[in-house]
Amino acid sequence: MQNLALAPHACDAARSRGRRFAEAPAPTRSDFQRDRDRIVHSSAFRRLVYKTQVFVNHEGDLFRTRLTHSLEVAQLGRSIARSLRLDEDLVEAICLAHDLGHTPFGHAGQDALNACMQPHGGFEHNLQSLRVVDRLEERYPAFDGLNLTFETREGILKHCSRANAELLEEREPGGVARRFLQGSQPSLEAQLCNLADAIAYNAHDVDDGVRSGLITMAQLCDAVPLFARYHEATLAEHPQLSMPLAERRLLYESIRRMLSDQVYDVIDATQQRIAQARPCSADEVRAQPGPLVGFSDNMRQQSLQLKQFLFRNLYRHAQVMETMEGARRMVDELFAAYMVEPERMKPRFVQRALSAETLSQRARVVADFIAGMTDRYAAREHERLTGLRLLG
Ligand code: MG
Repeated sequence: MQNLALAPHACDAARSRGRRFAEAPAPTRSDFQRDRDRIVHSSAFRRLVYKTQVFVNHEGDLFRTRLTHSLEVAQLGRSIARSLRLDEDLVEAICLAHDLGHTPFGHAGQDALNACMQPHGGFEHNLQSLRVVDRLEERYPAFDGLNLTFETREGILKHCSRANAELLEEREPGGVARRFLQGSQPSLEAQLCNLADAIAYNAHDVDDGVRSGLITMAQLCDAVPLFARYHEATLAEHPQLSMPLAERRLLYESIRRMLSDQVYDVIDATQQRIAQARPCSADEVRAQPGPLVGFSDNMRQQSLQLKQFLFRNLYRHAQVMETMEGARRMVDELFAAYMVEPERMKPRFVQRALSAETLSQRARVVADFIAGMTDRYAAREHERLTGLRLLG
């Protein structure tokens, strides 16, 4: 049944382009709710709890992991979706799945694996998230993967190189890769997840960064006007928060205000763009020359400043880089070891590697295995194979 609470330009589960393998509808849940539930029950989702966002898991218990990051993205996504009358279940499904393809050790792990895979077609984490839900999860008797709807898969494949888009298009003509070849847009729900991701990590990395001691609020106030504004407003309203022991409340209140304002900005700016473009269906959204979900120009500029600050001062901090150097080495050495001795992987990967006809096919199996590892599993495997302990 058509969902009348949705805006006409939203994705409606009742009009989904469907699943790759036909399935009878569920009696009580929409197809997007069902996608979300499948993602939550997948093993790739559970593994996110031990995967690095910025800080490696053993560095502290209270820093974000890929799992808590994904939950925060889903929370922001849902709340904006409700205001824009988009499909909340679809937004939640895409947000919860968006990082399923991430390697252990965050971007260092991804860069290392991509470097190892250069002769074999490279490694892209968005494409890997799609591989996880399309092929790597083994939970159903009749097919590989989770057999998600087109709309969820469209949102999961956030970026894709032209070469990979051509390969995907060959296997699935007119499917989720088509838009990268013709330059069209994804649904509003998918656009929203991209933005919710950025809003979430900018905010929680400020929080984790300050609590880790690698960056300070004073530094943020100096270099990031977006943060300085809310910090100042908070102190003006609650002068008692300038006391040393109140620092944490000051940090949280400043971040909370910053988050709320970004959310309101996205809702306003997006509503304006939708009012101008007047798309009457999700397909009319896809045919637009650019995305409709986004910040106002002013907020985009300020959010970019914050992102650049975090890049320079947190992600490239000497202490983070040192840990990441060890992580890079582990991924490199794991890759080299399994390429020589694929039988040292888990049985189902051994079987795939041994039936590979080319070196690149074998490398893809090794990349799938490594990408699925949690940080600590990768560290243990590395120690088992090399006798070296590089982390913790
Ligand atoms: Mg993310």
